[in-house]
Amino acid sequence: MPSKDKILSLIQEEGVDFLRLQFTDILGTVKNVSIPAHQAAKAFEDGIYFDGSSIEGFVRIQESDMRLNPDPDTFAILPWRSRREDSTVSARLICDVINTTTGEPFKGDPRYVLKRAIARAKDMGYDMNAGPEPEFFVFEKDEKGRATTETHDHGGYFDLGPKDLAQEIRAEIIYMLESMGFEVEASHHEVAPGQHEIDFKYADALTTADNIATFRSVVRAVAELHGVHATFMPKPISGINGSGMHTHISLFGDDGNAFHEEEDEFGLSETAYQFLAGVLEHAPAITAICNPTVNSYKRLVPGYEAPIYVAWSDVNRSALVRKPAARGPNASRIELRSPDPSCNPYLALAVMLHAGLDGIEKELECPGPVRENIYDFTEEDRIERGIETLPGTLGQAIKALNEDEVILDALGPHIASKFTEAKTHEYTEFLASVSQWELDQYLETF
Ligand code: GLU
Ligand code: MG
Ligand code: MG
Repeated sequence: MPSKDKILSLIQEEGVDFLRLQFTDILGTVKNVSIPAHQAAKAFEDGIYFDGSSIEGFVRIQESDMRLNPDPDTFAILPWRSRREDSTVSARLICDVINTTTGEPFKGDPRYVLKRAIARAKDMGYDMNAGPEPEFFVFEKDEKGRATTETHDHGGYFDLGPKDLAQEIRAEIIYMLESMGFEVEASHHEVAPGQHEIDFKYADALTTADNIATFRSVVRAVAELHGVHATFMPKPISGINGSGMHTHISLFGDDGNAFHEEEDEFGLSETAYQFLAGVLEHAPAITAICNPTVNSYKRLVPGYEAPIYVAWSDVNRSALVRKPAARGPNASRIELRSPDPSCNPYLALAVMLHAGLDGIEKELECPGPVRENIYDFTEEDRIERGIETLPGTLGQAIKALNEDEVILDALGPHIASKFTEAKTHEYTEFLASVSQWELDQYLETF
C-alpha cells in the first residue's frame, strides 16, 4: 500500500507537473480539481477545499465548502497526457469528499456510500470481489467534430484483422490501462458493428468502482486521440445490441470464496444462493441505480442478450443473473447482467452488495434456475412460473426504488432524494419531448 511519502517521491521522480484530484458526483460524472504538483504535500496534509454547491446534487450554497482528501492508493500517472514529448505530465488521485462543518465523510459522496456497503459486508465477515465487463461503441465524428452513430468498423463478435479497424484503438486503450495498474483479462469485438468489450480482472469493490470511473475516461480520451468518439450510452442504435456492463460478483471470507461449494450442482454455496435471492428480491429497485438513464430501458428489451426477467440461469443469457460455467475455489461467482455502463459505479456496486447481504441476513430462499430461453415465454408462462419483469421505464424504476427501504437505506437519505429528484426531472422531460420516431410516424400521416 503506497504511503503518502512514497507518492511524494514518485511525483518528484516522474516529473509530474499537475495533480488531478478526482471525485464522482451523484450521477456518476467524474469531476476534477487540478493542482500544481508542488501542492501535493499540502493536499495530503490538509486536503483541498472546493465549492460543493457547484456540483450537481451535492449541497446548497450556504453550506458549500467541501474538502477533498486524496486516497494515496489511487495514484496513477495519466498516460495520454505524457504521450507526447512536449506535453506536461499529469497524475490523478481519487479523493474522498469531506464535509468541512462536521469533519465527517460527506453523505452525498458516492465513494462513501460504497465504503459503507463494504463495511457492512466486513462486519458480516465478507469482502466483495467484483469484475465488470463494460461494453461501448466507437463512432465516427462529423465535419464539425460532433459524434455521429456511424460505426467506426463493420466487425462482428470476436472478429479479428482488417474488419476490426478499431483493434488498434482497443490495443492502445489496454496499453494505457495497464500502465495505470489495471489487469485486463480480455478484450474483444462485440456482437454489433463498432461495439467493443474490455474485461478487467476482479478486484475488491472499491478498486473496481475506481477502475470503472477511470476506464470510461481512458476509453474516451484514447478515442479522442484517434479522432473518433467512444460512447457508453446504453442503446445508441435501435435494432442492434446495446452496451451492458455485466458484473461478476463473489464474496470472500476467512476461508476463501464464500460462494463456492464443491458438492453443489452449480458449485454454489448456501451463502451464494441467499445472496442471489437478495439480488432477485431487490432487482426492481437496484435497476434505478444500475440503469439510470431514459435510454437504459431501450436496452432492456427482448432479443438483444440483455435481461428483462427477474430470474437466474446457468445456461442462457436472457436471465438477469447467470451462473458462469467456471467453478472452483476462486472462480465460483454470479454474473449480474442488467447493469449498463452509464451507471454510477460506486452506487451500483453498493446497491448490489446491500441487496445480496440482505438476502444473506434474511436467509432468503433462492428459486431454481430457469433453463429455457425466457425471451420465448408467453405472459402466461411467466406468471405461472412466478417470474417478475424488470422495470420497463426509468419512471417505473424510480418508483420501485422508492418502495424499497433496503435500497433507500443503502443510498442514504441525501443521495436517495437527490437521485430521485434528478431522475424524475429527466424522465418528465423525456416524456414531454417529441422524438424522431414520432415525427417519422405521424408528421405526414395526420
Ligand atoms: N450487449 C449485451 C447486453 O446488452 C451483452 C452481450 C454479452 O453477452 O456479452 O448486455
Ligand atoms: Mg459482452
Ligand atoms: Mg458477460
